[in-house]
Amino acid sequence: MLSSSSLVGRYAPSPTGLLHVGNAFAAAVTMARARRVGGACLLRIEDLDMPRVMAGAAQTIIDDLTRLGLCFDAFGRDDSSVVNGVLWQSARTRAYDEALQRLIADDVVYACRCSRKDLARVASAPHVGDDGPPYPGTCRDLGLALDAPDTALRVRMDRLVARFGNPVLVDAWQGAYLQDVVADVGDIVVRRKDGLFSYQLAVVVDDGFQGVTEVVRAVDLLSSAPRQVVLHQALGQAPPSFAHLPILVDETGQRLSKRSPSAPGILRTILSEHRPQRLLGHLLRLTGSVDVAVDVDADEFAAALDERRLSVTSLQWRPIDT
Ligand code: GLU
Repeated sequence: MLSSSSLVGRYAPSPTGLLHVGNAFAAAVTMARARRVGGACLLRIEDLDMPRVMAGAAQTIIDDLTRLGLCFDAFGRDDSSVVNGVLWQSARTRAYDEALQRLIADDVVYACRCSRKDLARVASAPHVGDDGPPYPGTCRDLGLALDAPDTALRVRMDRLVARFGNPVLVDAWQGAYLQDVVADVGDIVVRRKDGLFSYQLAVVVDDGFQGVTEVVRAVDLLSSAPRQVVLHQALGQAPPSFAHLPILVDETGQRLSKRSPSAPGILRTILSEHRPQRLLGHLLRLTGSVDVAVDVDADEFAAALDERRLSVTSLQWRPIDT
């Protein structure tokens, strides 16, 4: 450990499936970034979308991370949403509602009754951002009641960007990332039609609550970062800095994810057949940080990781022993 620093990182898995090798990679690198400078790294379970949560997955994720020797620092707040130092989003509804009330008081929230079908129709529009077409603002000036049934709540990004400016993002590995939040993203949903708060709102409220100074995660979330910066500003929080990791892909270039059937299985097989340190060593070799894979623990992983190798958008997964 070099010196004690004020860096606060976090790993924030959604327990909608079991951990896979890509998640283990993200967790190990997140921890490495914090450990190298004597910072802290927190664990947050993003079980906000309860209908999609897989029973038992959160505990299995925590157990797998522990087996990998990725020991997260305890979040020290005395709060009912914190259990053994881990923050659980499912217990944070009140905080999300307070943030929403703040945005409402700021006159940047409106109700939207557009259906999925309405939104799909927009998909044929000429301007398509990284995440599909931006919301065209259909309901923006309708003045629908915020508590009307079957409506989502959206935030007026035009007003926020006019106030704070369009974010200029310089990612630790991906470099400058420019996105026109108003034109490419548009007004984002902060509370869904089903009453659940959106990922975008929850992640910003929680990163603020936990004092997170650096967000490390996979590059597929890079396009979410600018809108999150705007929300941080709207809520009076200092935005974190960002470091977006390459995703792990298979030999056909497909992302290994919870949704690809074999990916969590790969991790399960490795953990049953090898010492957990073998996986960390193998991941180091996949990045090109070392030429030969040797078993390493989390601290050795942190010391050996060559971050220059992370300035790519994907890394090809290869089975252990190849
Ligand atoms: N919970 C998200 C996931 O598991 C990560 C969110 C984030 O790191 O901002 O993909």
